[in-house]
Amino acid sequence: MSAQILDGKAMSESLRKEIAAGVESLRECTGVVPGLAVILAGNDPASEIYVRNKGNGCRETGMYSVTVKLPGDVTQETLEAEIDRLNGDERIHGILVQLPLPEHLDEARALARILPEKDVDGFHLLNAGRLMTGGDGVIPCTPRGALHMIRQTGMDLNGKEAVVIGRSNIVGKPMAMLLLRENCTVTVCHSRTKDLPSVTRRADILVSAVGKPGFVTADMVKPGAVVIDVGISRVDGKVRGDVDFDGVKEVAGWITPVPGGVGRMTITMLLQNTLEAAKKAARK
Ligand code: NAP
Repeated sequence: MSAQILDGKAMSESLRKEIAAGVESLRECTGVVPGLAVILAGNDPASEIYVRNKGNGCRETGMYSVTVKLPGDVTQETLEAEIDRLNGDERIHGILVQLPLPEHLDEARALARILPEKDVDGFHLLNAGRLMTGGDGVIPCTPRGALHMIRQTGMDLNGKEAVVIGRSNIVGKPMAMLLLRENCTVTVCHSRTKDLPSVTRRADILVSAVGKPGFVTADMVKPGAVVIDVGISRVDGKVRGDVDFDGVKEVAGWITPVPGGVGRMTITMLLQNTLEAAKKAARK
């Protein structure tokens, strides 16, 4: 058996057409053009590529976008002053601070400075709390994209066993909360989990967000499972996921490739979050 591929590129293209139509209709009805500001401190090459892709996504969907480039030795005060300025800018509906920040900066303090309604990454404590308590907050882009892909399988998620490997605040924990909202029975695994394969083999839905290439092997997967690979690692200049794709695709029912899987969906969900933030602002 060979798994069906959950194609992040194709799903993204179709979602971006819907987002572009939403942007156009918001502009026609209210005159509001959704705007995204990305703050980039320093010149990490990977971050520069991500930021460029975000700008391209905005252009493709008709949104306004600005990139605020700050030097690598920027002070916390200057960074926060930029965030305050963007908080007060009516053309900007979403603010994203590109992570990781240079080591001397306080990431948590910077993220807390963004107005929760402009926090399109969904990392603000208020949005994290809303996700936890079932409120209407901004959902972090990567887990939101992963859930969209899981839904595309058409599987009834009620009562399904879902296993998430990884417990970070930006992927693992919000992913687990989203699956819980969908009435899955959720297990979260991490580096101290005992006998990981015996846990992952129970999963109807297996999400891996670890960052170790080839970590999830075929013997860890239940036949027919949905396998979502969030991991991104660089090996000999190539991008690789957590999942041993060639082996696992012979066991799983559905699988996401890397590249061309969850990564493609993350920026698309950022655009979706920005459009939704602009719609809320327009209603006020
Ligand atoms: P992270 O903060 O480093 O978290 C990694 C998690 O993996 C931790 O919870 C860690 O457990 C767990 N882990 C490490 N070794 C393990 C083991 N042997 N068995 C079980 N669990 C283990 O990373 P992250 O920010 O969540 O990102 C995870 C991966 O997703 C990275 O490759 C990252 O590049 C990628 N990513 C992709 C996207 C995308 O758009 N596709 C977006 C964000 C991140 P402990 O908590 O016990 O240490």
